[in-house]
Amino acid sequence: MTACWELNEKCVCKWMHPSEAPCPSFQIRKGCWEIDWVEIISSLSPEKKEYWKKFMEKCPNCPVYALHKKEKDDTLEKIALL
Ligand code: SF4
Repeated sequence: MTACWELNEKCVCKWMHPSEAPCPSFQIRKGCWEIDWVEIISSLSPEKKEYWKKFMEKCPNCPVYALHKKEKDDTLEKIALL
């Protein structure tokens, strides 16, 4: 399956080494619809938690969202409650 960083031409990570990338999805080389964002975001500091919550408000505008809407909507609903 095509990875999110290949589908999203605006991905800031795609030319980085995974160990240097800020996105947990890219770090572990799994699609953004496949990783447990709730667990990841819950374990962050309040500042980083807010950063990622804001970051994911952009998800509906990403081409990955259209292809994985069900998984993304489930995740975004749970993240909104954190
Ligand atoms: S979730 Fe991360 S790796 Fe995937 S497209 Fe977005 S920024 Fe890139």
